Amino acid sequence: MELIVARNREGLLKARTGGEVALVPTMGALHEGHRSLIRLARTRADQVVVSIFVNPLQFGPTEDFSRYPRTFDADLEVCRAEGVDVVFHPSAEDIYLPDRQVSVHSGRMGEIVEGAARPGHFDGVLTVVLKLFNLVQPHVAIFGQKDAQQLAMIRRMVADLDVPVEIVGAPTVREPDGLALSSRNRYLTAEDRQVALALSRALHKGAAEPTPSRIRAAAREILDAAGPRLFVDYLVLVDPATFAEVGESHAGPAVLAVAATVGTTRLIDNVTLTLNPA
Ligand code: AMP
Repeated sequence: MELIVARNREGLLKARTGGEVALVPTMGALHEGHRSLIRLARTRADQVVVSIFVNPLQFGPTEDFSRYPRTFDADLEVCRAEGVDVVFHPSAEDIYLPDRQVSVHSGRMGEIVEGAARPGHFDGVLTVVLKLFNLVQPHVAIFGQKDAQQLAMIRRMVADLDVPVEIVGAPTVREPDGLALSSRNRYLTAEDRQVALALSRALHKGAAEPTPSRIRAAAREILDAAGPRLFVDYLVLVDPATFAEVGESHAGPAVLAVAATVGTTRLIDNVTLTLNPA
């Protein structure tokens, strides 16, 4: 089957075949992490739609919207190679009406952890994701655990607003040395890339410990040893569904999440671990 490229909503309507649809929302600059989501989508539906849209609404005024990598031709090749059926690549003008008023409010959960560091970010994410759901009307949508709070917030939105779509989370794909794949890794110099390894190492070290205080301390120790080019934004151990910090007596799954700036590049990473009852 030929890959269909839909550059606006009319194109998307024409591309519909009537079977079950799996949607993989992305901002492009596709890498192995995105490929793994596409492969998972393939197993879940008749038609796989990949959206490629750098969403201005989810970037703050001082963030990297204008320099975010845009590699559309290479992305099309990746989609072709992975057997994607439709690439939806709209313009911002096609997505957002000039007189738009209404958007999704991410609530208290959108203001903590990553949301505290990036005010308005999750409102922007949820607004575009809900619009993509309405435009594509997928049966299932695939999101990476790499953006753990985003995944939790999308599950929250789908539950709170009764959005008729199944949300599937996919594991984080890493480089052999542990660095989580990210479109932003291409900003890193060779030296910065070495410094950035502290994130995955800290998570790995923390996850081997038995209690919340020891997990946090072990991870913090690795981050503190990484030198002055690593600026830690947050290191938290949180409930995977609410992103509230877990207490010392917490049992069950928890997410150890970190955000840090290396040079001028902001990176996030996380691992899920299970705490045993004391
Ligand atoms: P992005 O293009 O960065 O907005 O990411 C699009 C989707 O790919 C999101 O659901 C991300 O969580 C997911 N993703 C990004 N990096 C990875 C990775 N290393 N492994 C798995 N999924 C990823």
